[in-house]
Amino acid sequence: MTFFAFRGVKSHRWIFYDPIKVKRKMMSGISPRFLKSIAFWTVLRGVFLVVFAGMVAVTWGRWGIDGIDVPDPLMYTNVGNLLFWAVWLMGLVVLVPLFGRLWCGVCPLGFLNEIASRWGLSRPFPRPLKNDYSKAVLLLATLLLMGLFRLHHYPGATAVYLAAWGLLAVLLGLVFSGRSLCSYVCPIGGMLGLYSRMAPLEVTIRNRGICEDCESKDCVRGSDVWIRLALGRVRSVFRLRHHPCPVNLSVWDMKGTGRCLGCFNCLRACPYDNVQLSLRAPLAPLWVERYPRYSETALAAVLLGFLLLSYSRFWPGLGSVLAFPASALVPVVGTGAGRVLYLVWVGFLLPTLLIFAPSISVQATRAVSAGGAAFGTWLNSEKASSSIRFWIAPRVRETLSENGEGDEAVVEETDTLRGLSAACLPILIPLIFSGHLVLALVKLNAKLGYLPLGMADPVGIQSYLAIEELELLSRPGLILSIPVLRWITGMVMVGGIALSLVAAARISRREEIPFLPYAVQIGLVGLCFAGGLYKWLF
Ligand code: SF4
Ligand code: SF4
Repeated sequence: MTFFAFRGVKSHRWIFYDPIKVKRKMMSGISPRFLKSIAFWTVLRGVFLVVFAGMVAVTWGRWGIDGIDVPDPLMYTNVGNLLFWAVWLMGLVVLVPLFGRLWCGVCPLGFLNEIASRWGLSRPFPRPLKNDYSKAVLLLATLLLMGLFRLHHYPGATAVYLAAWGLLAVLLGLVFSGRSLCSYVCPIGGMLGLYSRMAPLEVTIRNRGICEDCESKDCVRGSDVWIRLALGRVRSVFRLRHHPCPVNLSVWDMKGTGRCLGCFNCLRACPYDNVQLSLRAPLAPLWVERYPRYSETALAAVLLGFLLLSYSRFWPGLGSVLAFPASALVPVVGTGAGRVLYLVWVGFLLPTLLIFAPSISVQATRAVSAGGAAFGTWLNSEKASSSIRFWIAPRVRETLSENGEGDEAVVEETDTLRGLSAACLPILIPLIFSGHLVLALVKLNAKLGYLPLGMADPVGIQSYLAIEELELLSRPGLILSIPVLRWITGMVMVGGIALSLVAAARISRREEIPFLPYAVQIGLVGLCFAGGLYKWLF
């Protein structure tokens, strides 16, 4: 299977690039000492946990400034608010093409969840909830809170939101085994799981044979290491626990990217040093790995909805087109309910329709073709009258011989609309990611300048007064100038559209389905994003 071809500079011969082969060749990876060091990871996670606690502390109870008649004066000057909404959430989007889901290895919420689970009841997570639907619902709920109550504008609201997540992490850990929060609840983890298909890093094994012969399976069961310490005549023995995979993955048999948190527990626990961090061809999992989980479609729909809502703010024309069904109902349901309707429509229902639309058209064509096949069978049967067979059957048979083969070749899993939509979901991932990356770059470019102010005055009241009231400080400027930002974001957007088209070509060939409906889908979503970006920055 060959995906790209390019001319070698010296040989002037075509060199063919096959991600599957490259992936196999790149299996030799690294496992440096610091990845195995319990102390290193404990300190790193501890630092992030302290930062998280500090964010809750500096945002807690901070809703405004007494005597200042501005609704959200601390939105960017409060360092906790700035760190969470701009640096954490947007920074992760910028880093994911390089590091995939490795953030989850040090995330304070995941750490809290994992620690609590070591002391808790260790019940298995309920089977019906082992999917991404909860993540999609929680992401949509966050969008509603942001859209209706401007959650992200008020440090006090951010504090309650973060504290609620911390509490949820602990409670889930106390009841369920492993990192249930990260596997089945956290929308950020779900988003990183989707985007990490484009990242070049993955946790792999060195030698499958060693795993097959291994009886202890320490990577999924954990292991204890006994350490002897001697100081003169005083001797002592300590037990050091190598914890197992918190999401219960069999690292020797991992199916697809996205669920591994990059916590390196398996790397530390493996007694044969058989686990490593390796490089793979970036983007290859988009079309090499066959299926995302069905529920990832719902999560992708909410992510797409979030982006449509964001871009329609910069392009009011797009906003009014997208809002149409909800705005038509406003006279009936009232403004408040109309706003909720708008957010649910653009934030979830419309993107779901956009994701399913090409697969609906493919399924409809299949249904027509299958109907034609059934009709043809009937015509050929003795039940059809001989005169009808004489006039119609030959032409119908001819049509069937052209179309029937493709239908028979379709694999069972993509026979259903749900299965086909899930199989084709990776087509949209580069485009959704590029839309998100553009937002993240613009946001970071505009708001990172507030970080030094936030370090000097974490609560942000003095900084706000110095900038806005006393005019002692000037408002922090952009890091990159607008012309440079235009070039970068424009290239990111074009790259996302191009990669989605490549993924559509590869996947449509793999699934033996037409390319056109997916190209139209990419065109529509790309138009919304590119148009929004144009109106915003150009
Ligand atoms: S899944 Fe969420 S809570 Fe878990 S480690 Fe990743 S970002 Fe943190
Ligand atoms: S497979 Fe290894 S790195 Fe991935 S989540 Fe499990 S223990 Fe962590």
